[in-house]
Amino acid sequence: AAECERYEERTPESAAMAEDLRELVPAGVCSTFRAYDPYPVHAARAEGGSIYDVDGNEYLDFALNNGTQLVGHTHPTLEEAAVDQIERGTLYTRPTDLIEFAARPLIDRWDAIEQVRFTNSGTESIMHATRLARAYTGREKIIRMEGAYHGAHDPALVSKMPPLEQAGPERDPRPVRESRGVPDSVPEDILLAQYNDAESVERLLRDHGAEVAAVLVEPACLNLGLVEPEDGFLERLRELADEYNVVLIFDEVKTGVKLAPGGGAEYYGVQPDLVALAKAIGGGYPVGAFGGRREIMDCIAADLNEGVATGAAHYGTYNGNPLALRAVGVTLREILTEDAYDHVTTLADRLADGYRDVIADTGLEATVKSVGSQGMVHFTDEPIRTFRDWGHVDEEFHEAYWFGMVNRGVIPHPHDASQQWTVSVQHTAEEIDAHVDAFADLATHLT
Ligand code: PLP
Repeated sequence: AAECERYEERTPESAAMAEDLRELVPAGVCSTFRAYDPYPVHAARAEGGSIYDVDGNEYLDFALNNGTQLVGHTHPTLEEAAVDQIERGTLYTRPTDLIEFAARPLIDRWDAIEQVRFTNSGTESIMHATRLARAYTGREKIIRMEGAYHGAHDPALVSKMPPLEQAGPERDPRPVRESRGVPDSVPEDILLAQYNDAESVERLLRDHGAEVAAVLVEPACLNLGLVEPEDGFLERLRELADEYNVVLIFDEVKTGVKLAPGGGAEYYGVQPDLVALAKAIGGGYPVGAFGGRREIMDCIAADLNEGVATGAAHYGTYNGNPLALRAVGVTLREILTEDAYDHVTTLADRLADGYRDVIADTGLEATVKSVGSQGMVHFTDEPIRTFRDWGHVDEEFHEAYWFGMVNRGVIPHPHDASQQWTVSVQHTAEEIDAHVDAFADLATHLT
């Protein structure tokens, strides 16, 4: 294994803050994903394509808040709109014209979305989309792909990258709870299939079809690096959903507006019945959405009768708040234009090609992938097509790569081999080349 250089010498202030914060909040962070050894770099501010830490170090930022900041940091158009909105008020809980401002571009981008409702996070979008699918079908079970991440609510914390010794055989995976506190009953409603194995979904539908409300899938797995659907996989899920009258839900929290303007549905040419969104649609403001066919979304409007649940509940004080809606509308209408997509795709390809050249020159065993604004490197030549292939990834080597890059002034992606880089609309060709140069320098130390 390559030697992992940590960054203690360059980040004493981060170390001191980490120690203080651990007294106040568990593990010193506000989402447990953000904690890792020895401590995260603590941020002071961010601007454009860069982030600055509390020790005064600058990093080119390709983590971009798990890809949320496709627009980059402090985008002037978004900043100006946000300040204007703050002056007009940020929470009314009354309908405004901002609903149309934010909803229309989502409806325009996804053929599948005829109506949409707003939430505050990806977790909420998935939670509401699955409840809606249950309300619509009158069935309870959800088919999901083993190893996928769909949020932080109880059902999503089942078999998110489970330890293989607990996960049972590939053909008949056993649900594994990722957290204490998830009730015993929760896995009962989850049926696990394997990504890129339509037959595994078909088997479940054949055996349990009458109880299944939905098939939930990320069109490309962006929590396994970047695993794309093989030819025919999503198409077959579409056919099966139609055949068994179950709702096909795409979790586009990460893929949405990033693989293509209309997400994975557009990129791969398959439309689901419901789409769950968050992250990049709001340019960094906390917002999510779920939408889909009118006939299904109508189940929400049905929930108005005399206090009796006749449809699917969807409530929330902050849902569709003016600041978030303004951010969505401005991001999708004014910033993520056709030119912006050309820019990020060209630069993301340049980054991936740069990695491939370094890998060819140094003889590193690695695979590079790039789709739209997203890309990644894994230190293995073995294909990763489903969660059960994850063991091929050399996570220890990846750790050495990640810290090595951070020490060279580049945060290549969020801290975990399962994540990927995002190229933002504010990154420049020079910054891409600086990223590649840092990798070239590091690669000589890794080999
Ligand atoms: N779905 C996917 C595919 C995600 O990657 C995430 C978060 O990373 C979520 C859902 C949950 O989104 P949030 O963190 O906004 O609740």
